[in-house]
Amino acid sequence: MSATETAIASAEAHSAHNYHPLPVVVASAEGAWMTDVEGRRYLDLLAGYSALNFGHGNPRLIDAAKAQLERVTLTSRAFHHDRFADFCTQLAELCSMEMVLPMNTGAEAVETAVKTARKWGYRVKGVPDGMAKIIVASDNFHGRTTTIVSFSTDPEARADYGPYTPGFEIVPYGDLTALREAMTENTVAVLLEPIQGEAGVLVPPAGYLPGVRELTRERNVLFIADEIQSGLGRTGKTFALEHEGVVPDMYLLGKALGGGVVPVSAVVSSTEILGVFRPGEHGSTFGGNPLACAVALEVIAMLRTGEFQERATELGDHLHRELGLLVGGGAVETVRGRGLWAGVDIAPALGTGREISERLLAERVLVKDTHGSTIRIAPPLVISKEDLDWGLDRLRMVLSVP
Ligand SMILES: *Cc1c(COP(=O)(O)O)cnc(C)c1O
Repeated sequence: MSATETAIASAEAHSAHNYHPLPVVVASAEGAWMTDVEGRRYLDLLAGYSALNFGHGNPRLIDAAKAQLERVTLTSRAFHHDRFADFCTQLAELCSMEMVLPMNTGAEAVETAVKTARKWGYRVKGVPDGMAKIIVASDNFHGRTTTIVSFSTDPEARADYGPYTPGFEIVPYGDLTALREAMTENTVAVLLEPIQGEAGVLVPPAGYLPGVRELTRERNVLFIADEIQSGLGRTGKTFALEHEGVVPDMYLLGKALGGGVVPVSAVVSSTEILGVFRPGEHGSTFGGNPLACAVALEVIAMLRTGEFQERATELGDHLHRELGLLVGGGAVETVRGRGLWAGVDIAPALGTGREISERLLAERVLVKDTHGSTIRIAPPLVISKEDLDWGLDRLRMVLSVP
């Protein structure tokens, strides 16, 4: 057996089968490239679902992590540490908000937002105890906890995990009328992805997000933007909502905030909203740890220059122009997305998304399918135009487009 086959067989025997990885075993990576255990190089067009916006082994992030590893890595929040205040201040500033509540994973940021919205509903809005409702969209992806899968519409993500957490109302994504009709006195929040990543990079109709903003403001309901995948440069702006000129009440951040080095997530909001917490009412052993703060501070500094957003805009325009040329030729049905982020619906006759991904793997390009015959393309924002073009050539080859 090859080194690849041995590693995969052993992983299959001893790890739960809650993923179905492509048959490649990565040993190292740099920038937009990964190298497997047999020395083959692959172009990474997934970027860890946007956790690797700044590429593999980004020298600035690795240096920040190394420096912090030598000083102090964990204090718990029982004590202050000297990176914490800077992290919170600078992240709040990047978001033009006032307060930060740090956690680790994206799902924890979503859970924190659910708690915050409910507490705000009872303490500030005056919703009767136990009656708070949060409205979410169909085809959402917000994480994997029991509460979060309770409001998923994906049977794969949800089945067999009941009893489900009550207090959520699901409306069709992009439908403002349905949202308006679902609102009651007890609605405390609307939780949405500005672009639905896992659903296939779905961009809502123009005017939807500003409409959500207007409606939530009118009805004294919090607008919670899950920018865990869409945020921090991916779409060409720091936040996907900026494309629509919308400012939410709460940003949920994760993935790229940890620079692909450590898990870092956060809820970022106003003093009125995050001010609802008192000591002991919420927390996390690792949330806001010194290593996480040091890496995230470097991420924030990199985003402040605007250079990554600019790259995502320029290369994203190029990517969408090139992918657009494939539409209508029989191989590609639709292309959606914004910036360096695309959902590509391949003609089902050419194969499932999984089969296309496997063919691309054979051509040394790594992508991930979402549903059906859709693949997503989301390279690290540091990818060169030449490498992106090389990846697009391989895609055309696999789709037999001249
Ligand atoms: C990935 C993701 C999450 C969950 O993040 P984890 O770190 O995997 O828990 C939540 N929301 C969105 C939009 C995501 O893409």
